[in-house]
Amino acid sequence: MLTYPLSLCTTRCSDLIAALPTFCTFAASSLIHQQHKNSARSVLDLHGSISNTPTKAVMALPRLVVFDLDACCWFPEMYMVRQGPPFAKTSDDACAASDGEAVKLLGCTRKVWETISNGDEWQDCRVAVASRCDEPEWARQLLKLFTIDDGRSFWQALDDGRLAEIYKGNKKTHLKALKEKTGVAFEDMLFFDDDQENIRHVSELGVVSVLTPEGVTQDAWEQGLRRFMEARLYQRRGGPGPGYGKTYAK
Ligand SMILES: [Mg+2]
Repeated sequence: MLTYPLSLCTTRCSDLIAALPTFCTFAASSLIHQQHKNSARSVLDLHGSISNTPTKAVMALPRLVVFDLDACCWFPEMYMVRQGPPFAKTSDDACAASDGEAVKLLGCTRKVWETISNGDEWQDCRVAVASRCDEPEWARQLLKLFTIDDGRSFWQALDDGRLAEIYKGNKKTHLKALKEKTGVAFEDMLFFDDDQENIRHVSELGVVSVLTPEGVTQDAWEQGLRRFMEARLYQRRGGPGPGYGKTYAK
């Protein structure tokens, strides 16, 4: 796997292009697909205040970002929750089960969902869920309680739940269902999951898949975007590229 000494949390796409190895930069210009809109919100900026410097172009981005839920977006996992519903929202990043036990969003989950849903440079991308959790209805309730910055629930961000695939089985099934619903090709998807087996299965479809042992952290998010861009560069050069049929550890 290629690694770059980048601090992506403070890096815009143009900086990323410049930082890619020489053998990749030649192809970078072909990936420019959209003029920057002089927005304060960068593709890689989860905090909205890091840089206001306009860039000339934006790298290729996924068109569908798919998340596992348990131990990826939130913790504890549903099978670990003692009492279950009704859940109540207690903060932007936490809900409480009926006995007060907290279910908390991990890492940058909320900011990442906000970025994909409302970021100016993310207008062609949607968020989706592929979960095998033991309590699908509990998960749906939580998705309806957690919100992004505009007040919409995670559930609403999932096209009112249409893009929430929550059931048992090999996650290839979940991703194939999402492909069917959205028309987005596997190579235009980015997938996050804390389970190595799920990562292996989904990678076999040709989806860039990122293991998240600590949930959707900023590091995991940046790694995903970087790997997606790398895969595109290799793909444009005629090769399968990173993330195709491979598994990755953090
Ligand atoms: Mg999980």
